Amino acid sequence: MSIQPGVVLLVPSLRVHDPAPIDRGWPALYLDHNATTQPAPAVIEAMAACLGEGWANPSSTHAPGRAARERLEVARARVAHLVDAADLREVVFTSGGTEAIHAAILGAWRARRELARDTILASSVEHAATRSALEAARREGARIVLAPVDAQARVQREAVLERIDERTVLVSLIHANNEVGTLLDLGDLGQRCRAAGVLLHLDAVQAVGRLPFSVRALQADLVSLSAHKLHGPKGVGALWVRRGAQWEPTTAGSQESGRRGGTENLPGIVGFGVAAQLARAWLQAEGWKDLAAVRDAFEARLLELVPDVVIHARSVPRLPNTSSVRLPGLDAELLLAYLDSQGVHLSAGSACHATARAPSPVLAAMQLGGAAGMETVRVSFGRGQDRADACRAAEALAQASLDLGRLVPSSVIPGR
Ligand code: PLP
Repeated sequence: MSIQPGVVLLVPSLRVHDPAPIDRGWPALYLDHNATTQPAPAVIEAMAACLGEGWANPSSTHAPGRAARERLEVARARVAHLVDAADLREVVFTSGGTEAIHAAILGAWRARRELARDTILASSVEHAATRSALEAARREGARIVLAPVDAQARVQREAVLERIDERTVLVSLIHANNEVGTLLDLGDLGQRCRAAGVLLHLDAVQAVGRLPFSVRALQADLVSLSAHKLHGPKGVGALWVRRGAQWEPTTAGSQESGRRGGTENLPGIVGFGVAAQLARAWLQAEGWKDLAAVRDAFEARLLELVPDVVIHARSVPRLPNTSSVRLPGLDAELLLAYLDSQGVHLSAGSACHATARAPSPVLAAMQLGGAAGMETVRVSFGRGQDRADACRAAEALAQASLDLGRLVPSSVIPGR
């Protein structure tokens, strides 16, 4: 399939436009969609078909290879449509969000570093993937500057702007925080970066597929995506690179138009394409508003049951599915283990180390060090969940709190 410059492929429509309520395969309550989501049935079907029949190498010039290439380019167009790319060739497939972020940061750094330009600017609430890429750039001579956030994990735009100077090569920011859900208020940062000759990379791994997202409107140069956060498979993602952006590949090779070497993970990419198309249909139907209503119902019920619960970043724009919750006096790891044993699966924002446990860097940056950070858990809903799930989730947390010895008025819990 030859691709004309500036042309976005017409994408064949799917038989299934919106996933049926997902049968999660077990009766438990899964509340960890920010960690990963279940592949949609149409994704599994398309991947199986690709493995079974479309397994040729997309770089081969024979007929099966050309058919494989066509599958690859259809998937690319679907992902390009999801993020409103001007040109499908701006999408470079990777092995996931982490690789996309590393390629964005190191590729921008290597392409643009100069003696006088040596600084990468990020925030103090970046994902571990960004933190490790920044560390790699630091080992190559980059100066890393982190802008602070407020108590709601909001990156302060002014704080970023005032740190941009003639030494700045790249600004790299998380678009939606994976732990708390806080959204980046980008404002005119894209234009301001461009005017200053600074590249802008957004880690949009949690945002894309959950909220309407347009790379063009944001005026970014590089955007990282991951399939498994939007009901696609794990181990596949993409880096969107604006045409003309001064960036260089970090993996040499002829694939992906010379921008990422290595035979493409075609079944994964096909699954990503289908997931992207499903996500687009879901966003067009404003599914994210329903998801926000589910999350809000959870929070309202939890506040009813546990009046002293603390919900972080509740008053700022957030991902529609995420709730960061603290039950004062209840250790998050204990709560998670207990809920897990009850078939309710979620995660915490604290990291366990061999010798000591500490709140995650994100919570620490929000000034939630100490007990507050150790008592915070993340509840993340997903497509297909409803208000009944939200109530079950709130009641499970309240019940756990009671069972684990926190004082909750028992009269408010059904069945007690
Ligand atoms: N960035 C954010 C904000 C994430 O939440 C994640 C995954 O948790 C990543 C990057 C890494 O993506 P992947 O798991 O596809 O490597």
